[in-house]
Amino acid sequence: MMACISLDLDDQWSYMKVHGDAGWESFPSYLDVVIPIVLDVLDELDIKITFFIVGQDAAIEKNQNVLRTIVERGHEVGNHSFHHESWLQSYSKEKIEEEIINAEEAIFQATGQRPKSFRGPGFSWSNDLLMVLKKRKYIFDASLLPTYISPLMRQYYFWKSTLSKEEKESRKELFGSFKEGFYPLKPFLWQFNNNQELLEIPVTTMPILKLPFHQSYLLYISNISVGLMKLYLNFAISMCKITGTQPSFLLHPLDLIGADHVPELSFFPGMNIKSEQKLKVFKTAMQILKKNFELVNMSQFADSLSPYKKLQPQRNSA
Ligand SMILES: [Zn+2]
Repeated sequence: MMACISLDLDDQWSYMKVHGDAGWESFPSYLDVVIPIVLDVLDELDIKITFFIVGQDAAIEKNQNVLRTIVERGHEVGNHSFHHESWLQSYSKEKIEEEIINAEEAIFQATGQRPKSFRGPGFSWSNDLLMVLKKRKYIFDASLLPTYISPLMRQYYFWKSTLSKEEKESRKELFGSFKEGFYPLKPFLWQFNNNQELLEIPVTTMPILKLPFHQSYLLYISNISVGLMKLYLNFAISMCKITGTQPSFLLHPLDLIGADHVPELSFFPGMNIKSEQKLKVFKTAMQILKKNFELVNMSQFADSLSPYKKLQPQRNSA
């Protein structure tokens, strides 16, 4: 069985923006610190992954050299929207199209590779988004997080933020609703009215229970006990194997670096954990995954799939 690994390259400014911190408008970035650390540890583990890049970062000239090293070191790039706004599902079709195209162009300019896959910021998606991806010949969408705890994730986020009432109102769909949990965990095809189809590769949550087990969750658990984290991951893997689910495993930069590297983000959960410890936990988790699955990037994973279950897109954009 295979497992695919991807990293959403959320930058420092996007965390500051959602948290409501001043100064994000000048796009402060940690990419020149984070990317070399991530690439080195991936080399050490001998795995190639998919990096979902934010268009705004790729459009800034000083980020381009370090972004290019991702492709030079053998990894692939995907589109993570231009502005990284987690309430993308409230966008008009025109605005969504603009987001996708602008990000795609900027990422191509920066890395020399044209993204053919998309993941919405904060797991946001809409029917219009899927249609735009199809029209632009994307191979798959990877925005779905099938879990019942989306409303909880949103409450936690708001509780930790300094956002105004109005800002919270505009973000009321952040992370989606309870019904996200009813979507399948295994890759499937979205079927549109015009008979066209688009592959969806959801971020895998624990089969049946639909509890997330991507690296950020493993890291929180490891802060209680590394033994417990291993137990949780091994249990998730057993559930995947029993149900024949090949996992899509998700990473974020803050899974690998702590406040010792980015003091500006010390408000974020888990930032008290030192970078060195985060790297250790990450390597432990990857070695457990590697023992159980062949680890590949998302395109290679997509190539290996079929046959698919087919589903009609059901969620309407506002
Ligand atoms: Zn993101």
